[in-house]
Amino acid sequence: MLSFWEKNSFLNYDIIIVGGGINGLSAACAIKEKYPKRSVLILERGSWPLGASTRNAGFACFGSFAEIRDDISQNGLDKALQLIEWRVKGLEIHKQRLGTQKMGYKTTGGGEILFNDEPFEKEELETMNYHLKPILNADVFKTDISKVNEYGFSSKNISQFITNSCEGQVDSGLLMYNLWQYTTSLGVIIMNGMEVLDFNDSGKNCEIITKHNLLSETPKFTCQTLIFSTNAFSSHFFPNLDVVPGRGQILATKPIEGLKFKGIFHFRQGYYYFRNYGNRIIFGGGRNENKEGETTTEIALNNEIQNSLDHYLQTLIIPETNYEIDCRWAGIMAFGKDKLPIIERVSPNVIAGVRMGGMGVALSGVTAERIAEIV
Ligand SMILES: Cc1cc2nc3c(=O)[nH]c(=O)nc-3n(C[C@H](O)[C@H](O)[C@H](O)COP(=O)(O)OP(=O)(O)OC[C@H]3O[C@@H](n4cnc5c(N)ncnc54)[C@H](O)[C@@H]3O)c2cc1C
Repeated sequence: MLSFWEKNSFLNYDIIIVGGGINGLSAACAIKEKYPKRSVLILERGSWPLGASTRNAGFACFGSFAEIRDDISQNGLDKALQLIEWRVKGLEIHKQRLGTQKMGYKTTGGGEILFNDEPFEKEELETMNYHLKPILNADVFKTDISKVNEYGFSSKNISQFITNSCEGQVDSGLLMYNLWQYTTSLGVIIMNGMEVLDFNDSGKNCEIITKHNLLSETPKFTCQTLIFSTNAFSSHFFPNLDVVPGRGQILATKPIEGLKFKGIFHFRQGYYYFRNYGNRIIFGGGRNENKEGETTTEIALNNEIQNSLDHYLQTLIIPETNYEIDCRWAGIMAFGKDKLPIIERVSPNVIAGVRMGGMGVALSGVTAERIAEIV
């Protein structure tokens, strides 16, 4: 049962956001920064965010050469450039909001490994640099095959190495912890362990039906505007939106003495990605090995993909080096036919800000601003 006091003071807000990942927290901040007097509540089902935001690789990136080339061929130049611009702007918004230290942000640069079976034309790289210059104010991509040796990678089957001086790393745990604190410092209430089961938009306001393990009576919240930042977990609420879950898997090694590289690195069109964290390696990806099997919201590991990560670690990234794995984990992303996120009003008082792909760390700065504008 709920008390009179609980019903009176805890259940009614101007704005309720479902989902306390980087997108939900950033949307709450953007709204409070614009409209400080509005009451904002975040309903999060986990003790802390339980989707992608605390489970990613912490790349502060806008896309590798081969990934952008793929995007251009699938979605066209304009959309590909728009996505890059949003990622670059989004990172700036996070930096302004938190400061680089609280995000563990470092401009480390990085690179991309191309294999013998992947096409590469120098002219294509120059054209891409030309398109990116107005956004990044730099000649972003350069070829430098000598880095393969310098960084200690295996040179077997590698045809090219493309450096990128503009990208960097964040510490995803630190970022989310500090963003959480900043969000609450603005007066946003965050309730954890509150799973939203259903909602009803009457046209005048919204009613939200939730479940909490310790409450026998289902709390029903009301608000003027309801925002869904549930990313991969959205199809239950919006079966018609093009949002498909995609599981991502990662491993982290224990510290490795004499690790030769620093930065963020990609191969196979960004399907595999690795970075240093001090002298550890954080390495993830491999969804392309079993795309159908990884179309799931189940937070679990798959041996086939973990074996593929182990294989590349041993044969490509640190060949002939002893290492130990510290931990392995999975998180859930959201994809669709289009790589741009969905930010739209889905009914008079309900907004969806979902489908952040494998780039929500960067994108969420901008998506949050757009959600606040719609509000
Ligand atoms: C393995 C992996 C690696 C990645 N690497 C990078 C990277 O290096 N760089 C990058 O930019 N991006 C990366 N991403 C993508 C990035 O992490 C996501 O795009 C971003 O975190 C999405 O944020 P979000 O807030 O929209 O979603 P989420 O973080 O998934 O948050 C959604 C929240 O909604 C909550 N929720 C869901 N349903 C309900 C409900 N019914 N009631 C209440 N709460 C609910 C969930 O518990 C969750 O906390 C990676 C993702 C993964 C999984």
